[in-house]
Amino acid sequence: MTVTYTPMIQQYKEIKECHPGDILFFRLGDFYEMFFEDAELASRELEITLTGREGGSKERIPMCGVPYHAAEGYIAKLLKKGYRIAICEQTEDPKQATGLVKREVVKIITPGTTMNEQILEDKTNQYLVLVYEENALLCLVAADISTGECLWTVCRGAARHEKAADFIFQTSPAEIVQSGNVENWDKLEDFCRQKLGNFVFTSFLPENIKTSGQLAEKHFTDTSRLPQEARTALGFMLSYLYQVVKSDLAHLNRLNELNYDNTMLMDATAIRNLEVLKNMRDGSKKDTLLSVLDRTHTAMGGRQIKRWLEIPLLNPLYIKKRQQVVKDLLGNVVLRDTLADNLKRIQDIERILSRVEVGTANARDLAALSSSLGALPEIKRILSVAGSSSLALLGGQMEVHAALFNLLVSALVEEPPFSVREGGMIKEGYDFELDELRAISRESRAWMADFEQKERISTGIKNLKVGYNKVFGYYIEITKSNLQSVPDNFVRKQTLANAERYIVPELKEFENKILGAQERIEQLEYHLFGLLREKVREQLVSLQDTARLLADIDVFMALAVAADKYNFVCPEINDRQEIIIKDGRHPVVERLLVREMFVPNDTALNMKEQRTVIITGPNMAGKSTYMRQVALIVLLAQIGSFVPAREASICPVDRIFTRVGASDDLASGQSTFMVEMTEVAQIIKYATANSLIILDEVGRGTSTYDGMSIARAVIEHISGRIKAKTLFATHYHELIQLEESISSLKNYSVAVKERGNEVVFLRRIIPGGADKSYGIHVAQLAGLPKNLLARAQELLAEYSEGICATPVQDNAVQNGQSSLFASALSSELLKLDVTTLTPLEALNKIFELQQEARREAGLS
Ligand code: ATP
Repeated sequence: MTVTYTPMIQQYKEIKECHPGDILFFRLGDFYEMFFEDAELASRELEITLTGREGGSKERIPMCGVPYHAAEGYIAKLLKKGYRIAICEQTEDPKQATGLVKREVVKIITPGTTMNEQILEDKTNQYLVLVYEENALLCLVAADISTGECLWTVCRGAARHEKAADFIFQTSPAEIVQSGNVENWDKLEDFCRQKLGNFVFTSFLPENIKTSGQLAEKHFTDTSRLPQEARTALGFMLSYLYQVVKSDLAHLNRLNELNYDNTMLMDATAIRNLEVLKNMRDGSKKDTLLSVLDRTHTAMGGRQIKRWLEIPLLNPLYIKKRQQVVKDLLGNVVLRDTLADNLKRIQDIERILSRVEVGTANARDLAALSSSLGALPEIKRILSVAGSSSLALLGGQMEVHAALFNLLVSALVEEPPFSVREGGMIKEGYDFELDELRAISRESRAWMADFEQKERISTGIKNLKVGYNKVFGYYIEITKSNLQSVPDNFVRKQTLANAERYIVPELKEFENKILGAQERIEQLEYHLFGLLREKVREQLVSLQDTARLLADIDVFMALAVAADKYNFVCPEINDRQEIIIKDGRHPVVERLLVREMFVPNDTALNMKEQRTVIITGPNMAGKSTYMRQVALIVLLAQIGSFVPAREASICPVDRIFTRVGASDDLASGQSTFMVEMTEVAQIIKYATANSLIILDEVGRGTSTYDGMSIARAVIEHISGRIKAKTLFATHYHELIQLEESISSLKNYSVAVKERGNEVVFLRRIIPGGADKSYGIHVAQLAGLPKNLLARAQELLAEYSEGICATPVQDNAVQNGQSSLFASALSSELLKLDVTTLTPLEALNKIFELQQEARREAGLS
């Protein structure tokens, strides 16, 4: 049976049909209402009451609503959860409408395009990423409309999906737009769902593909260096943004390529495993490399330092340039202090400019811009007279925008109101007409006092009051006890509990004059404010340049402060393919130790006898910490930072690969071992001789023999074919014998001292391999019961006799494996208590061993 809905619900359904993926906020009077599934979803997500309404169907239609003046907060909540919202307004005055009021969707708010301040985080970019594929070129473009930044990259070849995943991870978008067919999209989608926080997927293809594809050329000044496919992707993204944001987005003008050939690639796994931006415990910034370095004073600097960490440099020249600035700042404490004081005055200019561009900036924004500009001359001066050419260069690049600053200072009051429609923004003396109107308004106060006095005398009512309210305008108020003295010419306007309010012609005339003036003041102030906003807009590009320069200066300062506070040194950048670190420290772990002192360690990796380093040693000895510290020191060096060491010489690496720890990726249906092997496969596929590889425990998620064989084969492959500098921590002590057959491999171990039953971790990395794991000791520290530990000791003694005594031979994994199998077999036999075995058990055991042997021989 077809349902005949009421006209209003009919209208709702028609509009909703055009926005199936969005939550439709349907304006009804002072509320935004949601109906049907949207109502059910919103009531759940926003925790608001679900009601119902008659709408023509048999059952009541589910409905819920939010007051329009409080909608912002509710919208923010939905956006954070990854929803898109379509705002449908009444587009004609209900009083004028004949029949149903016209309604239209006036804007769409999406997580990647919102400028809602309840959503934006100061020190984090809010990107939207569009993915488009043409001619096997996977093009990704990202835009942060809150700051005006735009990034693009083109991923080619078989590895293009992995590269795309890295781009997406690095930009960590709030919204991902798929434009047209993208090969293997499912894989990319899976990656995003597992690795990103809250975000929304959108599918978008412009109606007019040809003209949309050409938008990039019109919007950006120079797109000639982009391949045609990337230009098309950029055009599609602009088309999407224009449609959603409904602004021409001129501030979106900083188009940068994320080109992995010019930068070191920090992929998603490395950023996560090395806890660069977020820790693995709770995903927060606490105890991360960022938390040690981020001493920035501005939101722009906060975003920039993250970008530097995500996209480190490769070119020694650029690294050295950054180092020089850090060095010059480090050496001048007084300069740093005054610079810091001035940086603290700088507000988020980038985001203010974005609001100026889309027309939502208010007078507070311009006042914040003005006070920020006020700090520029001093910053420029400090840098210019610092006596360092690198700082003078930065100072020289800084424009101080004096004319705009003077204009804003002369025009705006210090603390303007939030609203731009109610006056109170513009300073006295800025505009002649405004001053005159204000004079009228001021005089009126004196006039009112006179009038009140005059009426008190003529009526004899001592407590007669002249007042004003928004609904009734000006009035004379007389308390009930004095009503008998009210003259006849008083016209009653309003009755209160204990007073009456009146109007007289003289007061009405005054009201017209004064309200006219007030209205005119508000209009004029709005107009003047609009002109100011336009003046700012005219200088958008140069103001953006200044904002970016300030962000850089802020990051340089942060690096200098960290270097000073934590005793970092400037690493030499070499082209000898060496990573030499003297007394290196883990920048985060050394901050966390309370009772122990951090023990510094040396590192020497080169392309000759120490390209692969195998690190053995007890559990908890510090192997992982050591390897991560080397990776972090290299990363720090490549962003231009000083490093936690006594001395360091680093050759830039093209990528840091990490395979660290075991984590089940149950969400993706992958076991611990599968995750481990997938990560190893990535390394084998993409590492080059210029990479740095950190491998912590390869092959631990499977049986000892499988694991050990894989670990050994991986080492042989990396050292023999890839030739990347590699640190490999393992508990398979058998692997230390590889030193004899692989000339570029060296063994190191973490020193321990045994004192009776006690084991003391010395945390020193020393040459040579270890022969014991002390796992049972760690189990004891962890509090396992004594009888269990005794049993473990007993078993260890048995196993040691069997398995560990067997040497791994020469270079052939095959031989090693057979001897390992033989030793395992003998250990199994030794374990059997033949006197107590039943014939059936014996038969079963023989069967089991034969199966093993068949597998080993490749027969099953
Ligand atoms: P496992 O083999 O069990 O994974 P591990 O050898 O990798 O252990 P880590 O996790 O690196 O050991 O280190 C264990 C703890 O030892 C760290 O959390 C830290 O507190 C401390 N530690 C590590 N290195 C040092 C050091 N150089 N100086 C002082 N303490 C350290």
